[in-house]
Amino acid sequence: MRIILLGAPGSGKGTQAERLAEITGMTHISSGDIFRQAEKEGSELGKLAKSYMEKGLLVPDEVVTKMVLDRIAGNERGFILDGFPRTIEQAESLDKALREDDIDKAVYIKVSQDELLRRLSGRWICRQCEKPYHLTTSPPKVAGRCDVCGGQLYQRPDDTTETAEKRLKVYFEQTAPLVDYYRKKGRLLEMDGERQIEEVSKDLLSKLRW
Ligand code: AMP
Repeated sequence: MRIILLGAPGSGKGTQAERLAEITGMTHISSGDIFRQAEKEGSELGKLAKSYMEKGLLVPDEVVTKMVLDRIAGNERGFILDGFPRTIEQAESLDKALREDDIDKAVYIKVSQDELLRRLSGRWICRQCEKPYHLTTSPPKVAGRCDVCGGQLYQRPDDTTETAEKRLKVYFEQTAPLVDYYRKKGRLLEMDGERQIEEVSKDLLSKLRW
């Protein structure tokens, strides 16, 4: 299967992608995680990505498209794209690269704008394993420490209220049109993302008939 997870920052698409990958064995490809890893390593890609990410802007299409298509090439386990495509141009490049092996479903996780902002501004992430927490709705057992690996929690610089607002604006202008793009292709699967993580996850698996 070839799946795309669509949704605004804070919609829970990363969490759902991870769970889906664990259960199905498909490869999880998160463009944001790749950029954050590159940034940690101090590579040229990381430096370039950081200059856009910290402003809440999208990394240029040609950079991200090549990076993701390189990871897809030769994949035989099926894949879950998380955070890509984010523009119509990226979606068209993906279509061109996949040719007749079109994606099976573009899963759109719907969450209201107020809820997105609330989630993003309270989100803290484990520096080691990237597990997300929320200060009020899903806090760690020990303040500042990851329940799973004991790593230190931090707030992503692009989750501060000001940058999160910018990211949402960019999302509605540049990424939201993809919902219609995949609806027209007959590939869209809409999900209510304002439910418990577990509930969304179960519903998603059953809708994908897994
Ligand atoms: P995410 O972890 O998916 O929220 O992505 C974090 C940041 O990485 C975004 O705000 C963008 O700056 C950049 N990014 C991730 N994926 C893409 C993409 N497909 N196109 C452009 N920029 C991206």
